Amino acid sequence: MTGNTHVLVIGGGYAGVMAANRLTLRDDVTVTLINPRPDLVHRVRLHQLVGGSDDAVVAYEDVLAERVRLVVDSVTRIEAAERSVTLSAGGTLGYDYLIYAVGSGSAEPSVPGAAEFAYPIATLKAAQRLRAVTDATPETAPVTVVGAGPTGMETAAELAEAGRTVTLVCGGVLGPYLHTRGRRSVARRLAKLGVTVIDGPDAKVTTVTRDAVRLAGGRELPSEVTVWTVGFGVPDLAARSGLSTDAVGRLRTDETLTSVDDARIVAAGDSAAPSGLPLRMSCLNALPLGARAADTVLSRLAGEEPEKLHQSMYAQCISLGRSAGIYQFANRSDVAVWLHIDDGLGARIKEMVCTGIPKHLAGEAHKPGSFRLHRMPGGVAKRKQMLRAHRAGTPTTADRAA
Ligand SMILES: Cc1cc2nc3c(=O)[nH]c(=O)nc-3n(C[C@H](O)[C@H](O)[C@H](O)COP(=O)(O)OP(=O)(O)OC[C@H]3O[C@@H](n4cnc5c(N)ncnc54)[C@H](O)[C@@H]3O)c2cc1C
Repeated sequence: MTGNTHVLVIGGGYAGVMAANRLTLRDDVTVTLINPRPDLVHRVRLHQLVGGSDDAVVAYEDVLAERVRLVVDSVTRIEAAERSVTLSAGGTLGYDYLIYAVGSGSAEPSVPGAAEFAYPIATLKAAQRLRAVTDATPETAPVTVVGAGPTGMETAAELAEAGRTVTLVCGGVLGPYLHTRGRRSVARRLAKLGVTVIDGPDAKVTTVTRDAVRLAGGRELPSEVTVWTVGFGVPDLAARSGLSTDAVGRLRTDETLTSVDDARIVAAGDSAAPSGLPLRMSCLNALPLGARAADTVLSRLAGEEPEKLHQSMYAQCISLGRSAGIYQFANRSDVAVWLHIDDGLGARIKEMVCTGIPKHLAGEAHKPGSFRLHRMPGGVAKRKQMLRAHRAGTPTTADRAA
């Protein structure tokens, strides 16, 4: 390709900002980032927003390369055949390449009453609404957090530390991703914070009402505020635009993150489904996927064959209030192992991770091409092995969210 190339990035989250910054590596590439807000939502701190210890927002001027043009708007449709997108404020924008990085939000709850009476937390708006609701509720009122994945555990701990009376309804086991040893450590910490943990087969919520939740065994718990943290869903923009998606709605791509429908569209972050084996929705994957998506476009512009996705190193880092946390180590297939770091050191590591994300983005803004975590040695071979296992029907980590 000769002359100036215009790359449009839809979604200014971790993956989109990483990709946009990296694309400035080439002087002949113009980059436009479209995002509905004028600042970055630091989603890994949304539970802190609810607990009152952070606002979960980072200014783009701190993390976005100067050469990236920010358009504050939403894309309502992608017209792949015309290489253009329609904006919600009206008008269209053309592109040579498109990076699809629209991320995730709360999954639609299927339990009766949950959509009306429970509060999600997975977006800034949702977390701000939940904060306003808890602020307006007496401190002694019972609060129920539904879902004991990382977001549920983190939210329960944060609210308990803020003085709330919290029950965590697990829907099964506490922290399904955790190793048994890690799970015991988290259970101890939650008990110390006064969180009542309800787990086991009957710990499934079947109905939510204005002031209670009903469980599978018939038990009813009074609940003035019910927080819904069960799974992430993705925007339906790709499906709405006639592009191929997986069952969840993530854009279907090959191992270079290129859309199976169109070589000019590349996906990154939570909304990408490479080879039908998406990576766990997480910031841990969003940054490398953003860098990989940019590298795919840069390789095509250089007339080179893009590299394939590398499998990363894995772990999970969960805060349990402001002074404790757990760093759960995992193997290269993203399965938790016996080793973890907990308590105060766990909290410090989690804080380093949270402050590290904007630093990685700022690093790439100032020195595009400097991020290297998407190039793990042995990552392509490991990913190939996982794809073989997936095709043979061995369970994978694809449907878990952070
Ligand atoms: C409370 C909480 C705690 C978490 N903690 C961790 C953690 O400790 N570790 C971890 O690895 N992960 C964690 N996660 C998950 C992590 O935040 C996500 O996996 C990550 O944000 C995904 O990054 P992304 O760039 O793909 O998407 P997002 O961060 O969701 O960004 C997508 C962006 O696209 C924008 N967008 C959407 N639709 C459009 C459109 N039509 N037009 C334009 N823009 C659009 C959105 O507004 C958003 O700004 C946590 C999530 C939550 C909610």
